[in-house]
Amino acid sequence: MNASRPRPLVAPVFLPQSGCPHGCAFCNQTAITGRSLRRPSARDVRREIQQFLVFGHRRRGPVQIAFYGGNFLGQDPARIVSLLQVAADFVDAGRADGIRFSTRPDTIDTRSLDLITPFPVTVIELGVQSMNNEVLRRNRRGHDAEAVRRAAAALRDRGYRLGLQMMVGLAGENPEATLVSGHALAALAPDFVRIYPTVVLRGSLLARWYREGSYRPLSLEEAVGLAKKLYLLFDRRGIRVVRMGLQSSPSLDAGTNLLAGPYHPAFGHLVHSRIFGDALLEGLAAARPGAMGAVEVRVHPAAIPRLRGMHNDNVRRVEARYGRGAMRIIADAGLDRRDLVVGGRVLRPYGDQA
Ligand code: SF4
Repeated sequence: MNASRPRPLVAPVFLPQSGCPHGCAFCNQTAITGRSLRRPSARDVRREIQQFLVFGHRRRGPVQIAFYGGNFLGQDPARIVSLLQVAADFVDAGRADGIRFSTRPDTIDTRSLDLITPFPVTVIELGVQSMNNEVLRRNRRGHDAEAVRRAAAALRDRGYRLGLQMMVGLAGENPEATLVSGHALAALAPDFVRIYPTVVLRGSLLARWYREGSYRPLSLEEAVGLAKKLYLLFDRRGIRVVRMGLQSSPSLDAGTNLLAGPYHPAFGHLVHSRIFGDALLEGLAAARPGAMGAVEVRVHPAAIPRLRGMHNDNVRRVEARYGRGAMRIIADAGLDRRDLVVGGRVLRPYGDQA
């Protein structure tokens, strides 16, 4: 990950479960966002983008119009064209730079790609979730891993930037299988990935399995640990992880639609804190606090929240092992924000990129 790379401003258009052939076992977009499944018209979409671009979002860099929350290419072709035309009008007028959307791997074929060719689509995200065929089947995805490989290759051939979304803690998937999926996705060399922990949403099939006792969600601790391994797996191959954890929303935060599972509004921060915390403990073990007095821990000022951890969790881990006063944290703007210096030894919590 290179935190300094500029990210585009995304004007989001939410199309909840539009074009979905059926509900995947874990999914309930209404529960995630608190918004209804009402299908916005092209006119609604134009108004929504207009408002986003006018109010509160002054253009400072590239702007992308993004269709999310459904299976974009699973919609009726006339609907696809009308939505893309609305977005393309903003690009033609110089108010946006490109279009992106998320879709299922099994919607990518010559016909659907020909349909979108006239429009300024630059980025396509595939909801993959797992590369394990048994897990895909059990979660009612309706496609297999081969469909993902085919879709990724077709998108590359046409020159689109490729994003892949995966989940941890799916029904029927153990952590080892999740890491195998991660390696399989990395082998497709996506431009970026998103990692989502599976949560139990009211109204989903998973909720029924949870109530029946046939599904147990990961604990937050387990999900953070697994997401950490995946993050490092992708990061070390130079693949950006642009999101970890569900976007927080009032309905998720209130917990009304969330039955169980490792939801946390700052999930990504927890993962980065774990990466720093584990490196810190490793560095301290070598520096032997106590024997030599407080060990100096240097870190870039922007990385201090990750070093300390959520609610000072990492500091508490250190204190539990070595007692209070075992380390002295010093902000050092001369350091790379991914690095850590413990007792004079430079540590690279994220390892070295390929
Ligand atoms: S996970 Fe994606 S494809 Fe499955 S129901 Fe939800 S929005 Fe549709």
